[in-house]
Amino acid sequence: MPELPEVESAAVIARRALVGRTLASVVAHHPSQRRSLPARVARRIVGRRVVRVERHGKHQHFVLDDGAVIAVHFRMNGDWEVGRAGDPLARFARITFTASDGVRLSLVDSRALCTAAYHAPGAPPVLALGPEPDDLTTAWLGGVLARRRGPIKPVLLDQRVVAGLGNIYVAEALWRARVHPAREARALGDVQLRALVRGIKAAIADGFARQGRSRDGSRAHPFKVYDREGRPCARCGTPVARVTQSGRSTYYCPGCQRTA
Ligand SMILES: [Zn+2]
Repeated sequence: MPELPEVESAAVIARRALVGRTLASVVAHHPSQRRSLPARVARRIVGRRVVRVERHGKHQHFVLDDGAVIAVHFRMNGDWEVGRAGDPLARFARITFTASDGVRLSLVDSRALCTAAYHAPGAPPVLALGPEPDDLTTAWLGGVLARRRGPIKPVLLDQRVVAGLGNIYVAEALWRARVHPAREARALGDVQLRALVRGIKAAIADGFARQGRSRDGSRAHPFKVYDREGRPCARCGTPVARVTQSGRSTYYCPGCQRTA
């Protein structure tokens, strides 16, 4: 699932493609997107200029010159593809935004789970998001975790705790902080909280570096634990383990991520 670095990297593409341009057509190609973006709504968007593309957590907001917002979420595996009006449409193109000068931005998603919703002027989307990793503080995280029951890993997937984290960067952050994913969230001490805040920021920074490399075609450097079951931990050599928590795979090092 695209997480903060992947979505920001995608938002950069959307900004370059559409900001300052006037939309000549918006077409939803798949029934599930047509429900949230029907033709009568698409008609209201035509002729509007895109003034900016904002990213909030994993949400992308296209802000139009009349104050309306098109809120896009990739869900499991959406991405943008830039082309020109008249180019063959990508097989899994779900929504296309075509500017009056012919630039076309397609939301490509093989599973068609992506969402796009129109919010009329004066009725912007309401998001329940915690701080972005850049703005995260130990005080905030400690305050939130003190009120939560259960293991730390699923808590960090809650977008109200930290915006933009998902299964990959939570695993990477917990490894960096040497915190076991099954550790009780509210039992983390000050030292571990500080390590976790640093770990989250560092894991996201690493994700941005990885995005830069994958978009320019150079070889991506590997994750520390994510998707590395059975391979040696980069810190202590213990084979990385995988367990299931709340229905999702969790990767961690049993050697150096402590339960207490
Ligand atoms: Zn280790």
